[in-house]
Order: sequence, then structure tokens, then C-alpha cells
Amino acid sequence: MTDQSLPAVTFRDVTRRYGPVTAVDGVNLDIAPGEFFALLGSSGSGKTTLLMLLAGFERPTEGSVLMSGTSVSDMPPHRRKIGVVFQNYALFPHLTAAENVAYPLKMRGVSRSEREERVRAALSLVNLSDRGGSYPVQMSGGQQQRVALARALVFGPDLLLMDEPLGALDRRLRDQMQQELKRIQRELGITVIYVTHDQSEAMAMADRIGVMAGGKLLQVADPVSIYEAPSNHFVARFIGECSILHVTGVDGGRGYEVVGARHSLLTPVTKPFDIVVRPESVSLHSSSNSQLDGGVAATIRDVTYLGAGWRVALQLSDGQPLLANVMRGDELAGSLAPGNSVIARWSSGAVAVLPTEGSP
Ligand code: ADP
Ligand code: MG
Repeated sequence: MTDQSLPAVTFRDVTRRYGPVTAVDGVNLDIAPGEFFALLGSSGSGKTTLLMLLAGFERPTEGSVLMSGTSVSDMPPHRRKIGVVFQNYALFPHLTAAENVAYPLKMRGVSRSEREERVRAALSLVNLSDRGGSYPVQMSGGQQQRVALARALVFGPDLLLMDEPLGALDRRLRDQMQQELKRIQRELGITVIYVTHDQSEAMAMADRIGVMAGGKLLQVADPVSIYEAPSNHFVARFIGECSILHVTGVDGGRGYEVVGARHSLLTPVTKPFDIVVRPESVSLHSSSNSQLDGGVAATIRDVTYLGAGWRVALQLSDGQPLLANVMRGDELAGSLAPGNSVIARWSSGAVAVLPTEGSP
């Protein structure tokens, strides 16, 4: 039984060093029971190390890891009730799919009849009921990953850890597996920690995302908040495309000025700040509309066709770069060319405010 009122997982001031390298640096994090949590970061940011500390394959240099409020420091991996799925499936090649899935049950001394029943249920959960007798080489990458998933779930773990599990699959299969993983998670109500370097995968799947860099958790929030209100420059750039503009605060922080245009802020800001503008929030207008409220003069530098529209790279008249998306049917659609002068606009609700880089 797990206590639903306690976090399923707690990292408390967890640091892991390898010689001079600090792989995980002072991480504090609570994960709720039943939550789908994505750890997002580029290669080397410490994601796998954090998972291994939780699974018990590594020990923290400092701090502690708790499951349902109890420290697991002295608990060996096989007693932590954690299923793990890696990118490279790690199936036993000489065992059939059913034998691979049965393996954790055998290790735990589960009787043959119960084993057979549980293996059947696990293979059915991942839609592989008819492939139990196949060997890994006889299966596609997607099917092998399903076997690995069934093997991770067959002993009824409290927690499922997945380390870039879909990285080896092609795009179409990945989209399909993402949806299936969500279905399985809903069906089982299990807590999932999912490691990925792909921000769109994290956005599509997770209840909350933790962005990691240099061993630190930079921000933890739901996908919408992390996209609309990134807490710093790194997170803003890592999650989707954006422009970060240096602006001058005016009216005691109730607004800002950029290239002579004044904008108000929804919430006043007292410290030095920059603003984040997402390309879909920027609209372009003919330069003959120079009286447009809040409009900023810009020159088109580059136009990329995206199918659904165009990505336009602009340079503001003060030299700062700005990205805009122009969709079919928008003003100027079809008449965008490098060198053209335009007016760029965005609404005050569309910007996020960031502390200026390097400021305390
Ligand atoms: P990620 O999974 O985000 O790519 P890792 O957790 O694998 O990152 O690695 C984080 C950092 O710790 C990297 O600099 C890596 O080289 C280092 N590291 C990880 N494991 C070890 C180890 N066993 N020995 C030495 N350095 C390690
Ligand atoms: Mg890794």
C-alpha cells in the first residue's frame, strides 16, 4: 500500500559527484502519486544520473531520496518496486518475449502458474498477446520496446522510470507509442518519470516538466506555464522557439519601451528584465501602417516556408533579432521577401518577463 497523501518520490538536496564532475547538483523535487513527470534536458545535464539515484543503482554524494516519505538510502534496487525502461530495450536475446517478461517474476520467486497469468496480462496490456513466443530479433523496434515495457510493469511496481525510451524509433512510431504510454499510465494509475531531451515529447506527455541543465533543476512546472512563463533565459530558449528582447523599463516597471514603442505589462516588474516573445504572437503589417499602436519597425532578413505558413526572421531597427510566424491568409502572407520593411506587433498579454541574464 502506498500513502496517496505523501509524494511518491522526494529528492531532498540531492547531489551526485563523480570526481570533479557534479552530475546532479542540489536537486529538490516532489513527485505526486499518479503523476506523469518529464525530466527534460540536453545530453549530459544529469537526467540519467537522477533516475539511477532513484532506482538505487547509484547513491547520492549528499542528500536523500525518499519514496512515499521513507528514505530508500539503504534499500537495494530490487526492493524499491521500480520498473525501468531504457532506450536500448536491453532484452535477453536468447529468451522469447514471454520469457523476457517473466524474468522479473522468476527473480522474485513467483510461482509458475501466477507467472503465466501475469505475463499474459502484461503482454495484453502492451498489445502483444500474440507475440509471446517470438524472440527479440524476430520483432520490430517498437515491438521490442513494448516487451521491455511489459517486463518493467509485470511485477506491479509503484513507479515506472523511462530513460529516452522512444529515442530509437522513427517519428510515426514514436507518436503512436507516446499515446499508448499515456493510455497505459492512465489504466494503471502508475507514477511515471520520463526522461527525454525532446521538448515536444515532454510537452505532449507530461503533467509536469522539470528542465535540467548542468545537474540543476532550473524550473518545474506544467507544460503551459513552462512555455508561457519560463523562469530564465535557458528555459525560454530550450522550450520552443522564441525571441528574447532587451527592453527599457518605463513607468516604474509598469511598462517597457523597445525601438521607441511603448508597451504596458500586466504585472509591474521592479528588477531589470528582458521580454520573451514567441513567434506565433508576432504579427506583421505593411510599413505604410507606421501609426499602429505598439508597432515596431523591422526589416525582413530571412523567410522559411513551413507548409502551414512562414517563419520570418526580422531585425528590429535597433538591431535586435525577432522571429514571427505568418500564416496563410495573414496580412503580407505571400509578399514576404528579405530586405522588405515591415511593422511588427505583439499584444501585451503575449510576452513573458525574464530577469536579465546575469542579474541576481
Ligand atoms: P544525461 O542523462 O542528461 O545525458 P548523465 O546523467 O548521463 O546526463 O551525465 C551527467 C554528467 O555526469 C555528465 O557530465 C557525465 O559525463 C557525468 N557522468 C555520469 N555518470 C558518470 C560516471 N559513472 N562516472 C563519471 N562521470 C559520469
Ligand atoms: Mg541519459
